[in-house]
Amino acid sequence: MKNKKQEFDVAVVGGGPAGMMAAIRAAELGARTVLIEKNSGLGEKLLLTGNGRCNLTNAEFDLKKLVGHYNKNGSFLFHAFSVFGPKETIVFFGKIGIKTKIEGEQRVFPISNSAADVLEAMYIEMKKKKVIVLYNEEVKDVVFGKGAIEKIVLAEGEITARNYIFCTGGKSYPLTGSSGEVFQMIEKTGHKINALEPALVPIRIKEDWIKELQGLSLENAGISVWQFGKKIKTATGDCLFTHFGLSGPAVIDLSRTVGDLLKNGEVKIFIDLNPSLSQGQIEEKIKNNFKDYHNKSLKNCLADFPPRKNGLSDCQAFKY
Ligand SMILES: Cc1cc2nc3c(=O)[nH]c(=O)nc-3n(C[C@H](O)[C@H](O)[C@H](O)COP(=O)(O)OP(=O)(O)OC[C@H]3O[C@@H](n4cnc5c(N)ncnc54)[C@H](O)[C@@H]3O)c2cc1C
Repeated sequence: MKNKKQEFDVAVVGGGPAGMMAAIRAAELGARTVLIEKNSGLGEKLLLTGNGRCNLTNAEFDLKKLVGHYNKNGSFLFHAFSVFGPKETIVFFGKIGIKTKIEGEQRVFPISNSAADVLEAMYIEMKKKKVIVLYNEEVKDVVFGKGAIEKIVLAEGEITARNYIFCTGGKSYPLTGSSGEVFQMIEKTGHKINALEPALVPIRIKEDWIKELQGLSLENAGISVWQFGKKIKTATGDCLFTHFGLSGPAVIDLSRTVGDLLKNGEVKIFIDLNPSLSQGQIEEKIKNNFKDYHNKSLKNCLADFPPRKNGLSDCQAFKY
């Protein structure tokens, strides 16, 4: 691209899943399409998804129920999902060679359990549709004039197109390339950018003791989020203690609520290690333990009750 000017029908900025989908669709409709990616490869974040397995979509085909999971943004998403929802996503991936399966909580994964396969299939589809992909090209500026974008400026060279699509991701996980700088460039063109909020992220805990539990994983824990003495939301699932706080699917699901609540004040998180047992059943279990281990110290009596950091063979750090 060095010092060159190139013209296209559609220029897509960002080679994550959104940018690749946009480029595939534009090219399918006959547009001469370029995809500009600042990394040396596409879909860096996509490769991390679902712990490397890529949770492609959710097999909730009732769109009203589906958007109910998106809090206040649900109604905004309804139209988009009506045009291209979970069903269409499954069909699309099936057509490009990614057969899917449905797991717990209706989560849809590729049968191969491989996010890399998903990326490869999208890449092949772009190639088939003759999308031009530029790697190691960072958009440095967006030039606006006469009521429209005139061009986008790269480190060396520039691109003009009749239409521009910006798919540069949010701000989470900047190591994968989505560092958020493009939002300021787009704002200059008169678009309103809503304040970015964390969602689907691990949760930082301020208490220092959390570090001591780093590596401890809990299976099917009940996590509840509280504020001002009131329980606001709960989720059940796997949870992992990290060096900075909590992670794992259940925690990540709750992160948006926690982000919202933190604007009002302190948030407390409670973890129920055995959400399937009632208080009475737990008492019974502890009593039985005391009976069975009556010659042992209290610590050892409870040894098979709470999860332990050391000695758990399946204590793997899941990344989600
Ligand atoms: C650990 C983890 C696990 C996840 N698991 C799942 C899951 O299982 N299922 C799921 O649905 N979602 C999951 N997500 C969320 C999912 O990864 C994102 O929603 C998705 O990647 C967003 O796609 P995107 O194309 O909008 O942005 P991104 O994937 O962030 O892609 C943006 C692209 O734009 C490029 N870019 C940015 N700025 C510029 C610039 N100036 N010039 C050129 N290029 C630029 C970046 O390099 C990047 O390649 C997970 C996220 C993380 C972090």
